[in-house]
Amino acid sequence: MAWWSRTQGLAEQPKKSVPKGIWTKCERCSATLYESDLDENARVCTSCQHHFRMPTEGRIAISVDEGTWQEHDRGLESADPLGFRVDGKKYVDQLKSATRKVGPGDAYRAGTAAIGGIPVEVGFFVFEFMGGSMGSVVGEKIARQFERAVAHRRPAIMFCASGGARMQEGVLSLMQMAKTSAARSKLREARVPYIAVLLHPTTGGVAASVAMLGDVIIAEPDALIGFAGPRVIEQTIRQQLPPGFQRSEFLLEHGMVDMVVSRKDMKTTLARTLRWFERGRQPERRTGSIVAILNPGDDAELPQTD
Ligand SMILES: [Zn+2]
Repeated sequence: MAWWSRTQGLAEQPKKSVPKGIWTKCERCSATLYESDLDENARVCTSCQHHFRMPTEGRIAISVDEGTWQEHDRGLESADPLGFRVDGKKYVDQLKSATRKVGPGDAYRAGTAAIGGIPVEVGFFVFEFMGGSMGSVVGEKIARQFERAVAHRRPAIMFCASGGARMQEGVLSLMQMAKTSAARSKLREARVPYIAVLLHPTTGGVAASVAMLGDVIIAEPDALIGFAGPRVIEQTIRQQLPPGFQRSEFLLEHGMVDMVVSRKDMKTTLARTLRWFERGRQPERRTGSIVAILNPGDDAELPQTD
């Protein structure tokens, strides 16, 4: 063996490694965070308030009153009418592997629940399931959610996080934009409120339809919200986009969303907004509702803009 060989005389030192899942580095401020602290803080960075992505199961738990969630239509499944393949992978196989990973019910979970004691029909896009893309199952579930809201006169709430229409279903996924928008108009006719909560990211066909049709549109801080990506827009209009373009705060400034609300305040904000709608619906208060809005003493009951 050569004299410079490093294999002799050096004691093997065990590699020090941090077990996976204990620490997470903040994507924005690079702070090292304890996973358990992050979970306790609703997956919001404790040093810069960056909102990490929240798994749908956890999102449901922090958004509705404990023990009130009753899920509907979990068994709906997508067909593969086009026999779609991408990179040699069949759409049916993609669906199967997503279901194995995330659970049944495609990219949307809808249920009846209560928020702040008020019964609501609430739905959550499941971003973990094929990027929360909207295909025929998602469209059908949203339509049914809105129909239940009209039938029982309960406000509808939707938490949106989606990459847009599901290309594997071709034109059928584009049709869901019209279908969900039509279902939403039934809510308006019946004067049942609909609140949209836009999470990071809400883009493509979902942003271009049902997500932006809320009576009240609330966004989480720094969420990407828009139809096409900034690069595509820059190439099309041949202009540089302003900083912060397509982020919640920019959209608030330009009147596209009504409120930007931190995740930790989301439930109380929703409850306050629901109470405000409920008060307007009570017949004895209906004539006085305008007065109530103009009376500064009532401000505490109105949806506040952050
Ligand atoms: Zn941070």
